[in-house]
Amino acid sequence: MTPVPEHLHFGVAGIPNSCPEDSSLKAIEYVISSGLEALELEFVQGLKMSQETAGRVKLKAQEHKIRLSAHAPYFINLNADDPGKKIQSQDLLLNSLRLAATAGATDLVFHAGYYGKKSPEETYSTIKATLKEITSIARSEKLGTRLRIETMGKKSQFGSLDEVLSLCREIEGLFPCLDFAHIYAREGRVNSYLDFHRVLSKVEKKLGRSALQNAHIHISGVKFNQTGETKHLNLEESDFRFDEWLQALHDFEVRGTVICESPSLEADALLLKNLYCNLQEKMTPAAQTD
Ligand SMILES: [Zn+2]
Repeated sequence: MTPVPEHLHFGVAGIPNSCPEDSSLKAIEYVISSGLEALELEFVQGLKMSQETAGRVKLKAQEHKIRLSAHAPYFINLNADDPGKKIQSQDLLLNSLRLAATAGATDLVFHAGYYGKKSPEETYSTIKATLKEITSIARSEKLGTRLRIETMGKKSQFGSLDEVLSLCREIEGLFPCLDFAHIYAREGRVNSYLDFHRVLSKVEKKLGRSALQNAHIHISGVKFNQTGETKHLNLEESDFRFDEWLQALHDFEVRGTVICESPSLEADALLLKNLYCNLQEKMTPAAQTD
């Protein structure tokens, strides 16, 4: 059993901007020295990390007590029309999960695919059938890394909040990655304390309290139009109300990992971490101050 985290842990997606080397091993050291606690390994352009490096990443992360997750390649489409492409996507997702497990990542985030010419209902059942197979193989291999389906920001992509929560409810071994920038961009709203509270209530209602006790969250500023997300932005350059969002996470006692995907990566991750620490300090009983 994975222990329940005591609070939110903040980290970045990929190598921090000021990290001197383009290396996951260096990134782990850099993340820790900058005061963050989590790193998402980016397998987004393909599974380029060798088994040997993955083994070293795992040891290094354990040594520095950093929380590792990974992100599967962007080109996975579990709803591809071409049967060959669909099978390749399944294999790629499974191999991403295996590599993530070797690298010591507790969670693997992935984008499920596109609707293409199919209806949302048809897409849902195709993706559901595929993910049932993948989670079943993952169980038989005892991989131990959780599969996290991400809420997506473009309307052409499968992964509204409702689709993600329903699938996670139906499939054992499937968990959500709640990307609040995507939820905002896709719906064109969800940008106030009450909206965030409503999202978290829905997650709790559909998946139970445990989904918020060990949550995996993505965040950044975001630009969007009527088709959904167009670009990630730094938090202070966007209209995303991150202070209200953080207050809602705090009030709802959400625990787990927050991965920052702003262009500024570590700067925004630290901004959020500091704001969150301030919220937590306000909660410290007065008795402790004397
Ligand atoms: Zn993603």
